[in-house]
Amino acid sequence: MPQHTPPRVAVIGSGPAGLSAAYHLRERARITVFEREPRPGGHANTVEVEENGRVIGLDTAFIVFNRRFYPRLCGFFDDLGVETVAHPGGFTFFDLDSGLEYGTDELELDEAAIEERYAASHPGFPGVWREVRRFHEESRRDFARGRADMSMGEYLDKGGYSEEFRHSYLIMLCSAVWSVPAELVWEMPAATVIAFFVGHDEGGLGGRRVDWRTVGGGSISYVRKALAATGPELRTGEPATAVRQEADGVAVTTASGTTRFDYAVLATHADEAAALLENPTDAQRSALEGIRYSRSTVVLHTDPSLMPADRDGWLAWNYGKVRADGATRCFVTYYLNRLQDFTAEKDYFVTLDPPRPIDPEAVIESFDYTHPVIDMGLRERQSVIHGANEGTRVKLAGSYFHSRELGPDLIGSHEAAFSAGADAADRILDELS
Ligand SMILES: Cc1cc2nc3c(=O)[nH]c(=O)nc-3n(C[C@H](O)[C@H](O)[C@H](O)COP(=O)(O)OP(=O)(O)OC[C@H]3O[C@@H](n4cnc5c(N)ncnc54)[C@H](O)[C@@H]3O)c2cc1C
Repeated sequence: MPQHTPPRVAVIGSGPAGLSAAYHLRERARITVFEREPRPGGHANTVEVEENGRVIGLDTAFIVFNRRFYPRLCGFFDDLGVETVAHPGGFTFFDLDSGLEYGTDELELDEAAIEERYAASHPGFPGVWREVRRFHEESRRDFARGRADMSMGEYLDKGGYSEEFRHSYLIMLCSAVWSVPAELVWEMPAATVIAFFVGHDEGGLGGRRVDWRTVGGGSISYVRKALAATGPELRTGEPATAVRQEADGVAVTTASGTTRFDYAVLATHADEAAALLENPTDAQRSALEGIRYSRSTVVLHTDPSLMPADRDGWLAWNYGKVRADGATRCFVTYYLNRLQDFTAEKDYFVTLDPPRPIDPEAVIESFDYTHPVIDMGLRERQSVIHGANEGTRVKLAGSYFHSRELGPDLIGSHEAAFSAGADAADRILDELS
């Protein structure tokens, strides 16, 4: 390749994986970013509302991160001068049928105080509280001794944990961390779940011993800065329909025709990449095949009916439980005013998979997001997944890769996606040098 002509690289998908790949290639390549949606950012999706002439950025998917478990993302934010905001932490559990409510503060009480407060009104709760304590102690030990190499369902069965503990505690914390429907929590690798609580703290997302942060003005602020610093040709609303690896390049087809590039980074979800890539290598096929995605409906709204009845109990993360259509439904409502730490006239909420209809007048917007199902198969695949990008014209990236720096249990986060994009760019830079 002549020295004076920068190579052309197509980046397909403008979520954190694609933005990271483009940013890391910016000084060495001419970059075209193809994005299916009319807006860039993928799960960094902020809805901007106006209150009395003031714009408030409301995040609907990616919201939180912390310096310890998001080292590369935080380094990127530092380089771009992205403002970050401390998040006060805290969560509430509430059962809309029984009226049981408890949260971060109650979980820190001692057994006598729990008995005194709950034994009369909710006699089942002290037992759940004891199981919460047992789970955090035993799982930490089992993880350290390598005794958690099984699915979460198997781990809980072995430990004799009750249905009440599973449905009044664990399922709700997990479905919020991994944005998974409750029934898939049991398929998750126990080691992945436990590693998260050991690494962060027992509170998970609402934990107060971790420096959780959000992006000032919403995650769109970092997306704008990343694009301004990278300066790609940005083709939004233009989905790739086929990607073909050739001996000396890549052909990317969209509705406007086929364009040739020297390299491409396929930064869509794995199932989408598998459908787009016409001639995968064996390693690419085994990296992509069979990764499952779950769908969540996310509603941004101002209806408090899916929040705890007592307003004093409104925390950043509100885990709800209710009987609906003959089944127990768990859901999470983010209280954005608190989570993103802003003051506003209205209360803004994001509810994942609402168990019953939200007042249509109060709905601002809703979205369907898909997210990789983190099961035993996906974790096992992590030992070979990075090899799929060796010597190929198309590099894969997305949150279905783990971060090499943090290890195979950290899959599915913005850091995982961002690291995968940076690694894909590094492979291209290595091959160009
Ligand atoms: C509700 C929810 C909340 C979350 N909250 C957090 C959080 O707080 N912290 C955290 O770390 N993680 C969070 N996540 C995880 C989040 O998915 C990851 O952080 C990350 O955004 C995934 O990055 P990605 O680049 O792999 O995929 P995405 O961000 O989904 O980006 C993929 C992009 O590819 C585009 N695309 C797909 N097909 C094509 C095509 N054919 N042509 C062109 N473009 C295409 C898509 O439109 C999309 O823009 C959350 C996820 C969900 C669903």
